[in-house]
Amino acid sequence: MKHVYLDNNATTRVDPQVVSAMLPFFTEQFGNASSMHAFGAEVSGAIKSARKSIQALIGAEHDYEIVFTSGGTESDNTAILSALEAMPGRDEIITTAVEHPALLQLCDYLEKSRGIHVHVIPVDTHGRLDIAAYKAALSPKTAIVSIMWANNETGTIFPVVELAELAKEAGALFHTDAVQAVGKIPIDLKSTQIDMLSISGHKLNAPKGIGVLYVRRGTRFRSLLKGGHQERGRRAGTENTPAIVGLGKAAELALAHMDVENTRVRELRDRLEKGLLQRIPNCFVTGDPYSRLPNTCNIAFEFIEGEGMLLLLNREGIACSSGSACASGSLEPSHVMRAMNIPYTAAHGALRFSLSRDNTDEDVDRVLDALPKIVEKLRALSPFWAGAGEAPKTFNPVYA
Ligand SMILES: *Cc1c(COP(=O)(O)O)cnc(C)c1O
Repeated sequence: MKHVYLDNNATTRVDPQVVSAMLPFFTEQFGNASSMHAFGAEVSGAIKSARKSIQALIGAEHDYEIVFTSGGTESDNTAILSALEAMPGRDEIITTAVEHPALLQLCDYLEKSRGIHVHVIPVDTHGRLDIAAYKAALSPKTAIVSIMWANNETGTIFPVVELAELAKEAGALFHTDAVQAVGKIPIDLKSTQIDMLSISGHKLNAPKGIGVLYVRRGTRFRSLLKGGHQERGRRAGTENTPAIVGLGKAAELALAHMDVENTRVRELRDRLEKGLLQRIPNCFVTGDPYSRLPNTCNIAFEFIEGEGMLLLLNREGIACSSGSACASGSLEPSHVMRAMNIPYTAAHGALRFSLSRDNTDEDVDRVLDALPKIVEKLRALSPFWAGAGEAPKTFNPVYA
């Protein structure tokens, strides 16, 4: 049975061309980029060329604005901690209720251990940011604003270009976790006021454990790690050359395939989504369908547990992900579903399908065939469903 992988927002397959590009850097080209001999020169040349590929993908003005890190989590942490050190007299952070844990857990820690004031901007039921609350939170005390470009669970895209302009007016730094956006939607940083941006390799068909923090030229910056002078003193530690070369190749491929992402992948996603909404009663799309990544859809199925569906889908060889995370033994809906105020009876049954250019029409057909039966089976066992029957939808569906 061929496996159907629809969990690309969790991680992606390393592209075979990326693997090929990396291999020589484990064998012949094993040098240390800092060495003053041919072995070093070869490697530092390859790192420079990877930097240029990433510069092109995100439209950065200079290649030295690209700083290689160990991934999205390190990039997010570095941006926030740097700003708190580099912006004297400013000790407040603004972020949103739907960020990745890499941001929210750090903010929580900073609030508890250092007394940093963190403004958490809410979202509405469609995942849209409360812009009035954001404007009200900005002040001369704001060190940094960190707002994700696109949400990993719902795919909702925030208007970060405009939000960065507002932050600039308040004299604050603006960082965006663009881990889910880079490679899926066009980005041209030089025409924006965004100071810092996070990328993760493994969300982009490159390996795990490599990422980028874009740092705009002239941005006040303090490195997280203290050590060698690598990355112009902004990220100490011998460069992970194979992974950097891999990420460079992945960036080239992402740029070349950007139109596929926004045509073929989007069409597959839309067919999957419409098909499920047609075949299954009492379900609806979460997030903002009018401002959304082309590869993601998150559907909440009422009166049913996400985990049950995942288990049965897995038996059919289909991999996707549930909106709820198992927190300390109790099944709590995800913080993103809670932030959107998705009714309890639906938040538990949210499933995220995240596609990639590897997916096919057959993959979509497999889900459209399997999931309606699974939902019917599970609902037959659900006391909530028995109580609800064919109840009217309790929540505004996006597609009536
Ligand atoms: C995956 C992800 C991260 C974390 O990236 P890692 O490279 O796994 O550390 C951060 N933010 C978002 C939105 C993500 O989807």
